[in-house]
Amino acid sequence: MSKFFYNVAIAIPLRQAFTYHSNQQVVPGTRVAVKFGATNKLGIVIEAVSNTNIKTKPIHIVLDDLPVFSKTELKILKWASDYYLHPIGEVISSFLPTNLRQVKNTLETSVIDSSKKTLPKDLKFEKNLNTQQVKAVKFLNSLKGFMPTLLYGVTGSGKTEVYIRCISEHLLNNKSVLILAPEIALTPQLESRVKDQFGDLVGIYHSKMTPSARYKAWKNFRNGDLKVMIGTRSAVMMPAPKLGLIIIDEEHDASYKQQEGFKFSARDIAIKRAQILKIPIILGSATPSLRTLKLVEEKKFGIIKLTKRVTQKNPPKFSILDINELKLVSGLAPQAIEAISQTLKRKKQAMIFINRRGYAPQFICSYCEWRAMCNSCDSSLVFHHQAARLICHRCDSAFGIPSNCPSCSKPQLSFLGTGTEQLEDTLKEIFPDTSIYRMDRDSTKKVGSLENILSEIKNSETGILIGTQMLIKGHDFPNLELVVAVNVDQGITSLNSSAVEEMGQQLIQVAGRAGRLDGNSTVLVQSRYVNDQNLLQLKSGNYLNFASSLMQQRQITNQPPYSFEATIKASSPKAQTNIEMLTYAKKFIDSNKSMVIGPIPALQAKVRGSYHHYLVIQANKRTSLNTLLADLSDSLITDKNKISKKVRWSINVDPIEF
Ligand code: ADP
Ligand code: ZN
Ligand code: ZN
Repeated sequence: MSKFFYNVAIAIPLRQAFTYHSNQQVVPGTRVAVKFGATNKLGIVIEAVSNTNIKTKPIHIVLDDLPVFSKTELKILKWASDYYLHPIGEVISSFLPTNLRQVKNTLETSVIDSSKKTLPKDLKFEKNLNTQQVKAVKFLNSLKGFMPTLLYGVTGSGKTEVYIRCISEHLLNNKSVLILAPEIALTPQLESRVKDQFGDLVGIYHSKMTPSARYKAWKNFRNGDLKVMIGTRSAVMMPAPKLGLIIIDEEHDASYKQQEGFKFSARDIAIKRAQILKIPIILGSATPSLRTLKLVEEKKFGIIKLTKRVTQKNPPKFSILDINELKLVSGLAPQAIEAISQTLKRKKQAMIFINRRGYAPQFICSYCEWRAMCNSCDSSLVFHHQAARLICHRCDSAFGIPSNCPSCSKPQLSFLGTGTEQLEDTLKEIFPDTSIYRMDRDSTKKVGSLENILSEIKNSETGILIGTQMLIKGHDFPNLELVVAVNVDQGITSLNSSAVEEMGQQLIQVAGRAGRLDGNSTVLVQSRYVNDQNLLQLKSGNYLNFASSLMQQRQITNQPPYSFEATIKASSPKAQTNIEMLTYAKKFIDSNKSMVIGPIPALQAKVRGSYHHYLVIQANKRTSLNTLLADLSDSLITDKNKISKKVRWSINVDPIEF
């Protein structure tokens, strides 16, 4: 009997694939069960190999009749494994629905028939496009092959309608379309608009769905029953028989990057997928990332702009308020309170944007300076008044509230700083007859509560909205006239260079929630750094000005996107062990091709009882960074010195958090 040999990727933390044999031919991309050590593991056949000299074990069971991923999809997965230095088996399995990650369950297949459902011939659109939208659609629909294009559209410029027309064009050509969105629960408009238009051709895929619902969506997109898929980052590799277009909505959003385990960027994998498939990809945003803008500048990406709001209303004006000499009430300047009061008098809505939930970020003893800290993290416990708990926002540990100081036994306990809960209480006192809506992770825990708050806000005339960044994504608040941004200084003073970029994006996005009204809406930014160059750039309300000034600074200091960055992180119960390991690892890094900083403690140096340290590696060329990381990773894996085994270590390519 003849034997066939295959390289099989197994979901274990090793970078290589392993060779097995089978008596039957297996198509690459098929799930199989193989013995690895003493246990049965899930494997995916990634390629056939010719006769091998090494002694191979047999493939136990071929689990499915059809491959779960096509050859092209495997190629993209292989690229991701190499690019992020992450084990191929884990990369593949992380893009499978949960039930297919187990060494059982068969992929139910219907024969792939991508012509099952089609668009009605007389497809009607809800809206007539304006001139800019028409131009954008024409441009985007003329793209052939791989041509990533930034759809820069100021907030409210009607990007979604442009997507809709592009999607329909591809559906008419019998192609499928993949749309990635940051957090579908927070931006339900995209889903409802696309579903309104394309009905049962549309599927949804995100982590809040049940495993069986996810599997169903995955399977139906794969076999062509669903033609349009809207998903979060884990949907980036959903197989599709005839993918014709990828859309990345809010391409700048940090949630496209996975922070734990396989640290990939769905945006970047999507771009690679489009490149390998030779299809267009649209990156939409009102606040594009500097990385994308640099590629536009280099003409590697195209750009099309929507500069006008659909409503033709003026964008809100920015005004920066120096709070250095002011006495704040729960973080609000007297001028801000006055502005809120004026807005309420005009029967309009005001919004306070504050990126801190809970009542107060610190709980302290004013006598001995004791501060409530988490037992297992190096972070202050946040005082939650409603829950009557001190809660760690890192690990979610909750503690009772002591009545006396645990350190000096005096009863001088108080809180410091302001969170959403406190603002709500304070504003209720100042404006007792006004409806106040708070939107943060605590107030929206219950299923449906977010939708309830949003519809209440939309149906009410006046009132105050208090919210964290949850509130700033994509919603239209037609009566919103004033936005007060508290706490932006964290972005200005942060050592993390992407914090400034994010601050700018947040302010522009939050401003976009207002200004559906005639001419007089305002964003009031409270700051202690009123002469900060980046903040001043934002005053124009023009994100591209802000971004271009920030890019000049990055170029001068040779920071991303003008250089390429990775970190290697070590975690263990002892800080010293991390430092020893990273100092040792540094020796393997070619210092001619890169600059290495560290070991330095992570911003959150201790979380859940573990210490975290890292090295930052910067290189001028993407390829040299990649080679260098591959060498480093191989050296550490095969190293005889026990030191790298004493910590958990991982590589993060293009990190955004430190
Ligand atoms: P963006 O995503 O660019 O911020 P949206 O796509 O949410 O903007 O569009 C903003 C609002 O304008 C939505 O309520 C949308 O329905 C509406 N809209 C978009 N295009 C048009 C159009 N051509 N005519 C009328 N209304 C439109
Ligand atoms: Zn004390
Ligand atoms: Zn903690």
